[in-house]
Amino acid sequence: MELNETLPIDEVTKAAFIALGKNGVIYAANGHECAECTQPYRPPTNETSNDMDVDQADVTMHVVDGIVMGPTHCAFQNCESDLLNARGGSFCAIHERAYGSKCRVIGCSNDKVHLTQACQQHKSEWNKHTHNRSPGALAGVRRVLRRPAENLEWLPNLQRNPLPHDGPVPPDRENKNYFSPNRFYCVETVCAPCGTVIAWTKFAKSESPTKIMNFLSSIYPTRESRPAYICIDKACSVLKFNVNNGTYADWFETTRFVVDSYHYINHKATDSICRTWCNPTPSDGSAPNLVIPAIDKYGNSCSKRAFNTQASVFVILLVFYSILNRLVNS
Ligand SMILES: [Zn+2]
Ligand SMILES: [Zn+2]
Ligand SMILES: [Zn+2]
Ligand SMILES: [Zn+2]
Repeated sequence: MELNETLPIDEVTKAAFIALGKNGVIYAANGHECAECTQPYRPPTNETSNDMDVDQADVTMHVVDGIVMGPTHCAFQNCESDLLNARGGSFCAIHERAYGSKCRVIGCSNDKVHLTQACQQHKSEWNKHTHNRSPGALAGVRRVLRRPAENLEWLPNLQRNPLPHDGPVPPDRENKNYFSPNRFYCVETVCAPCGTVIAWTKFAKSESPTKIMNFLSSIYPTRESRPAYICIDKACSVLKFNVNNGTYADWFETTRFVVDSYHYINHKATDSICRTWCNPTPSDGSAPNLVIPAIDKYGNSCSKRAFNTQASVFVILLVFYSILNRLVNS
């Protein structure tokens, strides 16, 4: 992407979105290959177990991960449209028009009082809302970072959830009014192991296997476009979801779903599906394209991971860098 250096920031974000936002697929990264993220196929040496082997000329991995940073969307129930007015508005254009001058308390049809979002009767709710709302963008970012149900292991001193990211999705908060916009649950990214971003999207409410599979089906429209390995912290849940709905056989032709090495240690040792199919580094020779021979610093032969499964950490750092940069300069 090339931009004029004098472009105002609002125009920069618009231009970036046009370049990067084509249904979430980064065109510049289409068919991306490099030495770090593409390996020549290695046939199995072990005859007994080659379940994790894949039949592809060049072996690639894509890493899927969700970043919880909470961009906003329309507050209306089940509406995920962009806000009409991102600075202070809480509705998309359609719902902004539909509500017009009406009170934003759900179920109320009174007219709102000038310069507020509530009627005379709901004035106290509005006052409470404006009082609680801390000024500035930092408040929004901090609030998202501190949502206790979410796992942000890269941040120190946070209350950890024992079922990070893999556990059941917390129920939606029940909105009583439309005073503020809803927030997306996460930005879902697909990266190559070298850190190149392949695609992204926003998930409202949860990072469920249904949403993950719909996203993957949209960015890999043909079997040929799928990577040999898809690495995701909840790979075993996604795999079980595919088994239950019958799409497993089709995906199995091309792709295995593995857990990233960082999260794999927290997965249950008793979960045989996870141990058999989602192990990122099986030591039994069953995945010659995931664990490859190498020479250690003393000249001895050893095994190493074929792919870096922590690629999205770079993306997370970039996102935080961009937020901090915006705060510092605003
Ligand atoms: Zn690469
Ligand atoms: Zn809407
Ligand atoms: Zn009202
Ligand atoms: Zn697992």
